[in-house]
Amino acid sequence: MTPFGFRRAASVDEAVRLGRVPGAHFLGGGTNLIDLAKGGVVRPLLLIDVSRLPLAEVTQMPDGGVRIGAMVRNSDLANHALIRARHPLLSQALLAGASPQLRNMATVGGNLLQRTRCPYFYDTGFEHCNKRAPGSGCGALDGVNRNHAILGASAACIATHPSDMCVALAALRAQVRVHGPHGERSIAFDQFHRLPGDTPQRDTTLADGELVLGVDLPPDGFAGGAHYLKVRDRASYAFALVSVAAALDVRGGIIHDAALALGGVAHKPWRRPEAEASLVGRAPSDAAYGVAADLLLQGARPASQNGFKVALARRAIVRALQTAGAQA
Ligand code: SF4
Repeated sequence: MTPFGFRRAASVDEAVRLGRVPGAHFLGGGTNLIDLAKGGVVRPLLLIDVSRLPLAEVTQMPDGGVRIGAMVRNSDLANHALIRARHPLLSQALLAGASPQLRNMATVGGNLLQRTRCPYFYDTGFEHCNKRAPGSGCGALDGVNRNHAILGASAACIATHPSDMCVALAALRAQVRVHGPHGERSIAFDQFHRLPGDTPQRDTTLADGELVLGVDLPPDGFAGGAHYLKVRDRASYAFALVSVAAALDVRGGIIHDAALALGGVAHKPWRRPEAEASLVGRAPSDAAYGVAADLLLQGARPASQNGFKVALARRAIVRALQTAGAQA
């Protein structure tokens, strides 16, 4: 591990100021960043500890929405009474991720910023990874790519985003609040993570030195009918082959609103508003769910070893909507 400096930020302003130092990284729970640094995948010159900043609260907002601080631990958020009652989709997704020990350490901010689990990215002895070493090629394209993307990938990178929490936040139309050298701004969740394009080394639309302050959830949390379905190779402590965040608001036998996003299939949580819109105004049915699934998966282009994900994702979407619809 390369030697690095360490500073504990006493305020958000100090953290943002330190964040402009070349090679600086913010440190929350450290569950991904420390692994990356130990393996030499990331070589921070300065770690800025933001764990003592006043960003560990879950607060109900005057408009009925919920504000979640970036330093809230995943386990605390999953079990928070407000989240369990108002945004059960988020609670379910958090509990599907990692292990209890990791959830006790991992923070909301860190979960948003975790890196792909593509094995070529983590193996610094392997030359060809555009995300780790831009311009070096992509070993997964002609290599082991069973877990890789089927949607939104590029010739430069076919990695997937590993988070469960982020899939629920995408479906719930959250906003990410950030603070940087030019002040505070809010980013729609759909716009926070990037597709790889020609620059897969950049995972998000954060500007240099910007610190994630937290996430805002809108008032409507689809409390009545929500289901997070995660399909993986073993029952726990595994990343998703495919996951689905699905929620329905059904009134008088008609779908009034729908939330739908996929994990494990793209460089970012995959959402397509047309898929949700196709459900609105229809009665809950397998036919309606199938149409939404087909719209969400439109344009899927599997790699050499993961063609099974297309059929798996379609079945998982329909199953998740059936479960959500049965509760709504
Ligand atoms: Fe690297 Fe992306 Fe290719 Fe994996 S898929 S080897 S992360 S460029």
